[in-house]
Amino acid sequence: MACRLIPLGSGSGGNATLVEFGSTRILVDAGLSNRDMENRLESVGINPDSIDTVLLTHEHYDHSRGLERFTKKYEKPVAATGGTLLALNMPEHHIHRSVVLTMGQEHRIEKVSVTPFPVPHDAVEPAGFLLEGCGVRVGIAVDLGKPTAEVVRRLRGCQILMIEANHDLQLLRNSPYPAALKKRVGGSRGHLSNDDAGALLAAVADGDLRAVVLAHLSRKNNTADLAMKTVHAELAPEIRLRIDWRVACQKVPGRPVAV
Ligand SMILES: [Zn+2]
Ligand SMILES: [Zn+2]
Repeated sequence: MACRLIPLGSGSGGNATLVEFGSTRILVDAGLSNRDMENRLESVGINPDSIDTVLLTHEHYDHSRGLERFTKKYEKPVAATGGTLLALNMPEHHIHRSVVLTMGQEHRIEKVSVTPFPVPHDAVEPAGFLLEGCGVRVGIAVDLGKPTAEVVRRLRGCQILMIEANHDLQLLRNSPYPAALKKRVGGSRGHLSNDDAGALLAAVADGDLRAVVLAHLSRKNNTADLAMKTVHAELAPEIRLRIDWRVACQKVPGRPVAV
């Protein structure tokens, strides 16, 4: 297998995903406690020492909670946009080493090319990522309010996609959330609904796409079944049936997808 993606945990309670290209290992987000990340990595057979870099999508706590301890303990660099690094507000000595990523520009991590692209979300400079190595292209877009034209353009031609499917529109509408929170979650700089995730996938899914991980599901306003059904309804059967589907969960690591 040239590339594997393993969701270690996903949702507002904490996010971390391992992406492996040959011997290069990248941790995308470090939003679980350090101990939790260590345990989950161990449970999927990965030694934390073997990780090359931690890539951060944005500064929100559910993506950065374990960042400081993990990167200091294992002496790993943190790569993120300048805005995200600033927003973390961590004194220089609290981070082992930081690498500033520029939106739209390709950066190298060992043999892997990493390109951040902007996503609409209520953080300082939030990014989705395109990762390419070993002939495999992986697209990651979690925490985004809507699929913009740029997001669609960037995610075309991937073999593996990890996409947010945060909420069911009706469950969010009827949820006991306060009105302001409903507005934030459902807003264009909030989180992606199942319908929008389906529309995004319909716009980018082509003959190359082999595996899709639906991620960052709301515990209150979504279920794995609803997310899968809503997204599937947007796709032509010949495309849907060719794809290896996963729903990332909050509490335990998911089965790896591999291409
Ligand atoms: Zn989040
Ligand atoms: Zn966020």
